[in-house]
Amino acid sequence: MLEDLIREWDGEEIVTGFDRPSGTWMFVCVHSTRRGPAGGGTRMKVYADPAEALTDAMRLSSAMTLKMAAVDIPFGGGKAVISVPAIPDGDERRRVLLRYGDLAASLGATFQTGPDVNTSSADMDVIAERHTHVYCRSEENGGSGDPGPFTAQGVYHGIRSSLRRVFGTDELEGRTVLVQGVGDVGGPLAEQLAADGARVLISDVAEQRVRELVERISAEAVAPESALETTCDVYAPCALGATVNAESIPGMRCRIVAGSANNQLAEPEDAERLRDAGILYAPDYVINAGGVIYAWGTESLGWDRAAVGSRLAAIGDTLADIYERADTEGISTEQAAEAIARGRLG
Ligand code: NAD
Repeated sequence: MLEDLIREWDGEEIVTGFDRPSGTWMFVCVHSTRRGPAGGGTRMKVYADPAEALTDAMRLSSAMTLKMAAVDIPFGGGKAVISVPAIPDGDERRRVLLRYGDLAASLGATFQTGPDVNTSSADMDVIAERHTHVYCRSEENGGSGDPGPFTAQGVYHGIRSSLRRVFGTDELEGRTVLVQGVGDVGGPLAEQLAADGARVLISDVAEQRVRELVERISAEAVAPESALETTCDVYAPCALGATVNAESIPGMRCRIVAGSANNQLAEPEDAERLRDAGILYAPDYVINAGGVIYAWGTESLGWDRAAVGSRLAAIGDTLADIYERADTEGISTEQAAEAIARGRLG
């Protein structure tokens, strides 16, 4: 099974590790180095079996190639998955991360990583004890820290660009935006939207976070189970993937889907379903590229805050190009984004 998966993949290289004491599988997938070293996060997750973990790593790695190309930064795509029987903490977590760091280091500069689901800047500090090419270490350790607020800034520009496309103005005053998930990305995004005069609806399973934002920015809370059917101008998924699917699309009451979550569409056909429903979709790997732009730009490309800021704003321009191409060619925005990215891959 694993051999078949590897043989069928169109990427360049995969290294695998198995940590016997913890029963942890590790997969580092280098999809493409055509535009530069392969960059992508390290995800820690409980999977049903190693094949599911490898499939996820390969898929995410390919998506990173498109993301780097779509936002035109000189890196290729990679991704790593640490497939644990249960999320470890304390000494066990450190031991697993060091073991993983050795595996990543075996690829040298070819694989450059950062945080992802269930990994943090503190984890990057540990991995960096073994692997040189690690982004978003804590600021105390000389890294660029949490990329969440920068991802939020990119999503903010993406929302404004999408509003301009649909309503002819990017004015937020009087618009309603529903932010699903108010964590590292959704929290700062909700704040910025409220500061610009939008009516901000927030939905999160973490009740304390919701209460705090309702109080601080006068956001309105929406129950998690009602989020998808709530009437709004923009639905910003900033929690989970696959919320946009054949079942949810008919009930959606928004004009735009624009948020940070990875893999927002459950299947590729959902891009067409959104188009048929008259809902503008900001392809996730373009609108959520702000974290990568910040971390890779700051740590590798020597960009200062002003340069990062203008590249974050350019996410809005990239989306405008994607929307234009989709309309001109009569294709979905997802297909248009992929065509632009593939054009840069030569
Ligand atoms: P986070 O863990 O800080 O926040 C996620 C929030 O979603 C939490 O508050 C959680 O309680 C909430 N949530 C979980 N299940 C929910 C549900 N069913 N309904 C409503 N809320 C729910 O994560 P984050 O770093 O803010 O990332 C959010 C999304 O954006 C993720 O999909 C992540 O992969 C993606 N993303 C993040 C970054 C980044 O820089 N952090 C970059 C690119 C993509």
